[in-house]
Amino acid sequence: MPNRGKLIVFSAPSGSGKTTIVRALLQNPELNLAFSISASSRAPRSNEIHGKDYYFLSPEEFKKAISKDEFLEWEEVYPGQYYGTLKTEVERLRNEGKNVVFDIDVKGGMSIKKHFSDDVLAIFVQPPSVKVLAQRLIDRGTESDEKIKLRLDKAHLELAFAPSFDHILINDNLNEAIANAQELILNHIL
Ligand code: 5GP
Repeated sequence: MPNRGKLIVFSAPSGSGKTTIVRALLQNPELNLAFSISASSRAPRSNEIHGKDYYFLSPEEFKKAISKDEFLEWEEVYPGQYYGTLKTEVERLRNEGKNVVFDIDVKGGMSIKKHFSDDVLAIFVQPPSVKVLAQRLIDRGTESDEKIKLRLDKAHLELAFAPSFDHILINDNLNEAIANAQELILNHIL
């Protein structure tokens, strides 16, 4: 039987730089990573592509997938916005022998850890401060003021989950954070 890929979860408050770190890691062939594309009921941003960034589902389609037990985990990450990891997605990538990388919220991350236990390396990306987080969300310019406020309120709750993760990766210097993440992953997969 071929080796099954390992799992690497990245969770963090929105704006912590986690997506940038994950994108950089995916470029490194030594890590043999593949991105677990989540399903989401939110509207795509202008630069996002269905089947690459997310599987964008309508709220009705998302609820149907829940009732058919198609998710490994799902969360209403923001009011009315559902996100979830499809069982088929993870199976497909693991069967290809890929190490699967997840960019999901803290509760989803803990669910994946519980489900696959030692096969999972769970990394919490910690922003230097909530103030820096706020500035990053403003600079990104993809969310309304109201949505930014929601995300910052949630950030306070999410930071409390950090100690439950295998590692806390401080992201005050992007290149260092990427290098540290790389080392953690190599230790986990080899
Ligand atoms: P965004 O709307 O900025 O793309 O993502 C919002 C949040 O949803 C992020 O914290 C992201 O990590 C999380 N998220 C994305 N996919 C999933 C998923 O499949 N499951 C869970 N639980 N959270 C997810």
